[in-house]
Amino acid sequence: MEYNDSDAGRALGERAREFMDEIVLPVEREHSGDGPVSDAIIEELRQEARERDVYCPQINKEHGGLGYDFRDVLPLFEQAGRSLLGGPAMRVAAPDEGNMHTIELVGTDQQKQEWLEPLVAGEIDSAFSMTEPRGGAGSDPKMMQTVAEKDGDEWVINGHKWWTTQGSEADVFIVMARTDMDAHPYEGTSLFLVPANMDGVEIVRDIPHLGPSIVHESHAEVKYDNVRIPEENLLGTENEGFTHAQERLGPARLTHCMRYSGMARRALEVAKAYLSDRTAFDSTLADKQGPRFAIAEEEVQLHAAGTMVRDAAVKIAAGERARHEVSACKVFTANACQDAIDTALQMCGGSGISKDLPIADFYESVRAFRLVDGADEVHKRTLARAAFEDVATEELTNLPEFGQ
Ligand SMILES: Cc1cc2nc3c(=O)[nH]c(=O)nc-3n(C[C@H](O)[C@H](O)[C@H](O)COP(=O)(O)OP(=O)(O)OC[C@H]3O[C@@H](n4cnc5c(N)ncnc54)[C@H](O)[C@@H]3O)c2cc1C
Repeated sequence: MEYNDSDAGRALGERAREFMDEIVLPVEREHSGDGPVSDAIIEELRQEARERDVYCPQINKEHGGLGYDFRDVLPLFEQAGRSLLGGPAMRVAAPDEGNMHTIELVGTDQQKQEWLEPLVAGEIDSAFSMTEPRGGAGSDPKMMQTVAEKDGDEWVINGHKWWTTQGSEADVFIVMARTDMDAHPYEGTSLFLVPANMDGVEIVRDIPHLGPSIVHESHAEVKYDNVRIPEENLLGTENEGFTHAQERLGPARLTHCMRYSGMARRALEVAKAYLSDRTAFDSTLADKQGPRFAIAEEEVQLHAAGTMVRDAAVKIAAGERARHEVSACKVFTANACQDAIDTALQMCGGSGISKDLPIADFYESVRAFRLVDGADEVHKRTLARAAFEDVATEELTNLPEFGQ
């Protein structure tokens, strides 16, 4: 297990910490409770991030990023999670971060020029459109109903998606659709780059949802009705959409773990400040063993989560799929972060619920983490399948059979 961060990663993380403490957190405190901050404020934060060399570190330099590898960006991603403004400011927030990664990985030079570089620059936004309403793809993506058919030198897409994060603001969608109905879905599905302004792309609505208020977080229901796109908008290899989606989701699950770990740590920072400041029953709350032990227990959990993230990230950076490590890390971290944020909220009393502190927003954000990128149960299913692969029945040799 490789726990230590590299020198380059530490230096990047330290710059990110300073950026968060000096620039982002003061802006967050100023706007806490006001509703979503404006695009202009996000752009100001991005400008500062560019000047401090913490902007889009995960993308190669030739496309406008800083060119750090997956393992080295980890400390920065954790820092970014300390505020809901950190990810957008450093251009490491979902879903753009995962989408940029996918285009960089499997896109053509033309696609990188047309979509990746403006995404890195923050000039456009993107969305990933896989999940479908009842009867379609969800936890089981094999249920996918959206279809893309070849017609001359065009693809024609028909389908109905929802939970397409940032769909109503996106300039381009990565849409997943069946392309070979005779093949198993895992071998007959492809990814497409669909510009949002194409005829037939309809944003049905933004789904009303539980979620934080300091950022505008939207999840759209989208219909694709005879949407015609040029054949060169196929992203990656035809019929290998599931492979590409996994290449996206493995790292994306881990970057979610990194950001949410940072969020949970910040929640504990806020709670510790509150406990140290607030006096009740003759001493500060921080002097009482109950709150101290509660915080210590959450720090143990977050330390374990950080270790699991690092272990999986080393393997991903080395080109391994690390499916089981990522699944174990995702389940553990999502639950650890949810528990830590809930505890932090409790420690702050009524103030924990108020939007004067960031914890209420964190609480509304973290709940979705146990669902996105695969619900807890789906990852446990993967882990359980491996766990039960080679069961040694010899272990039961000494047990008598019934009636013997
Ligand atoms: C905030 C948010 C953002 C999202 N962003 C995107 C996005 O940008 N793009 C996109 O395509 N999708 C997105 N999603 C969709 C997300 O990936 C799905 O919600 C998730 O995969 C679960 O699918 P489902 O909602 O259809 O649940 P279902 O498939 O209906 O499952 C419901 C529940 O059943 C249980 N379950 C499922 N399978 C099993 C099993 N085998 N054994 C035991 N229990 C099981 C789980 O508890 C699961 O939560 C987002 C979702 C949320 C909440």
